[in-house]
Amino acid sequence: MAKRTRERGFPADPEPLPVPVVDNHTHLDHIDAVLTDVAPDGEPAGQAWPPTVADHLARAARAGVDRVVQVGCDLPSARWTANLLSTQQAGVVGALAIHPNEATLHAGVLEVGPDGLTPEVEEHHAVSLDDAVAEIADLAKGSPRVRAIGETGMDLFRTGPRGEQAQRASFRAHIALAKELGLALQIHDRDAHAQVIEVLLADGAPERTVFHCFSGDVEMARVCAENGWYLSFAGPVTFKANDDLRAALTAAPRELILLETDAPYLTPHPFRGQPNAPFAAAHTVRAMAAHLEEDLGTLCTDITANSERVYGNW
Ligand SMILES: [Zn+2]
Repeated sequence: MAKRTRERGFPADPEPLPVPVVDNHTHLDHIDAVLTDVAPDGEPAGQAWPPTVADHLARAARAGVDRVVQVGCDLPSARWTANLLSTQQAGVVGALAIHPNEATLHAGVLEVGPDGLTPEVEEHHAVSLDDAVAEIADLAKGSPRVRAIGETGMDLFRTGPRGEQAQRASFRAHIALAKELGLALQIHDRDAHAQVIEVLLADGAPERTVFHCFSGDVEMARVCAENGWYLSFAGPVTFKANDDLRAALTAAPRELILLETDAPYLTPHPFRGQPNAPFAAAHTVRAMAAHLEEDLGTLCTDITANSERVYGNW
């Protein structure tokens, strides 16, 4: 039992990074949802359980992950994020959008996806897709700390043909919004590389466009490089089976590489199955530096510079 409980806790604290780095995609408001209510063994002594947002940010800063981009990608989460940005002044900026799998529900599409799951409709989905995107626009205009529109894009893992239409319409609306507001764009692309690239090229991508949790191969890394699109690497780049993804990392121009956790999901090796949190980006960037045979401090310096080019200073 003790072992099982420990596995449910967060990964071990990494050795602090020599140079601070940015986690450019995290869901601080989702972390609690994946935790048990009993503090597992092995969590830092004296820390309250479950950790607060301030605890997560402090633990991340101790590991050398001194800044994060908090992503609110459904209406309740976007409101939560806007509220956090108005109170938490250090370390955090935000990205807001209606996630592709939320867009289908706002559009009233209730088909069973290729994954065999029936989507779960909640109260906030009664808002039309147009109105939902309009609220994202209002929230984004309301805070100078909102620096990106995202995550938006397409998810054909979860979505059938009717949902695909709604996702494409939503994606296009978000691209237009990012351009109108001069913000970066964070893309969710799950089993939809060709479709996402086609929409970006047809509509014209925003000046700063990021593939969140990049999942393409070398060929797709080249398409990103040609277009100046950023590739954000998450825990999967550390997974044993993902040689193609590591080859894409090698092929990616250094000035387009970003780092993220997507916490509480996608926890890096060897901590898969445990909840993720921003501090664990330090594990991922260490693995990236080892793969690239690059000095860790140099890679962190480059990723931080790239992050500031995309999101500005904070
Ligand atoms: Zn995410």
